[in-house]
Amino acid sequence: MEMEKLVSLCKRRGFIFQSSEVYGGLESTWDYGPLGVELKRNVKEAWWRSVVYERNDMEGLDAAILMHPSVWVASGHVDGFADLMVDCKGCKKRFRLDHLKEKKCPDCGGELTEPRKFNLMFKTQVGSLEDTASSIYLRPETAQGIFVNFENVLTTSRRKLPFGIAQTGKAFRNEVTTGNFTFRSREFEQMEIEYFVKPGTDEEWYKKWIQDRFDWYISLGIKKENLKLRPHAKDELAHYAKACTDIEYLFPMGWSELEGIANRTDFDLKQHAASSGKDLSYFDEATKERFVPYVIEPSGGVDRAVLAFLVDSYREEMVRNDKRVVLGLHKALAPIKVAVLPLLKNRPEIVEMALKIKQGFGKSFKAVYDDTASIGRLYRRQDETGTPFCVTVDVESLSDKKVTVRDRDTMQQDRVGVDKLKEYLDGKLKEGGF
Ligand code: ATP
Repeated sequence: MEMEKLVSLCKRRGFIFQSSEVYGGLESTWDYGPLGVELKRNVKEAWWRSVVYERNDMEGLDAAILMHPSVWVASGHVDGFADLMVDCKGCKKRFRLDHLKEKKCPDCGGELTEPRKFNLMFKTQVGSLEDTASSIYLRPETAQGIFVNFENVLTTSRRKLPFGIAQTGKAFRNEVTTGNFTFRSREFEQMEIEYFVKPGTDEEWYKKWIQDRFDWYISLGIKKENLKLRPHAKDELAHYAKACTDIEYLFPMGWSELEGIANRTDFDLKQHAASSGKDLSYFDEATKERFVPYVIEPSGGVDRAVLAFLVDSYREEMVRNDKRVVLGLHKALAPIKVAVLPLLKNRPEIVEMALKIKQGFGKSFKAVYDDTASIGRLYRRQDETGTPFCVTVDVESLSDKKVTVRDRDTMQQDRVGVDKLKEYLDGKLKEGGF
């Protein structure tokens, strides 16, 4: 599929807008509209459920975006979190060296400058004085908030190894080259896990996490053939990593990273211990050993996951010589679960009945009422939005107290009693894992 089609659908239906659009937009920053915010919340919730609630070895955390500047010195980000970039001497465009296949400008063929290091962290000031002492960074990853809270979480939760900490939150990177819609932006959201293990068991946990995270995308409807694992070559590994595998998705621009699972060894905890002077080791009661845990890090992007779910679920099909666009989103992810539609909006009793039905769903899931077009167009609109079920109230509904429930994927219609409707829909949504 072409990315343009998806960008246009996202704009038209209120999933994703260009940030600050009325001012001409701010490059590579995006706002999630009424449907986008629901989809994004559902993705994060599905992730949280899978990595925190459904496991016995995980805790959650929500650390601040602003952190002590020493964090980023100890983590290696101040010195090392940089991309090598080159500029084209002809058209002045800037590129990441590792994204280029040849030593010339991919746009105009022009000569390139020597590579220069470009630190990706956004710097800002704390307080009102503009001196270096008050310089601070917007976090470029959420992971460090977890490392510096390792001891806090360990003692307050009385955990034993192995255990992990999960966190979602915003991260900021002054990317050299951006683009491909929300794939690479300067402000994005991550969902990250740091999983602390006894050294020696790290390779086994590394493999387990790769499999778990791969399966998660499949369980939410991503087609297996569009997902692959790409282990990093030795020369590709970050300085702290013993091993790393990317989960890649076949985006419209080609195979690209959705999530990375890294074996970070004891690098981060050791760095923070040395830099802060605090002991970040672990005492194993069973073996009476003291050691610094190794860490497995599954680190995914919320925006990239949302984009992959959108791309993967988009389909066009012909129905009675008419093109229909469907977002076949997994029921757990669909922004709206049920749309309630009156067949005739000039009949107040029908409208009243439809509104009442919609209102009844409010405590359980997101439902909408819509009467702004003919029924055929309303169905198409909900198909494009990914709504699994439409409930239609017609004239007969007034007397037989039954409504028509239409399934997004099969377009099959069932006549269901209003008193059984909630149970019917709950059952159908549950079948889909909601
Ligand atoms: P890339 O090589 O694509 O720049 P990375 O290897 O630097 O990514 P990580 O540091 O491993 O990325 O970050 C973990 C996850 O955070 C990525 O897998 C991705 O899903 C997400 N992510 C990283 N940078 C961005 C960005 N600029 N925009 C959106 N998501 C991002």
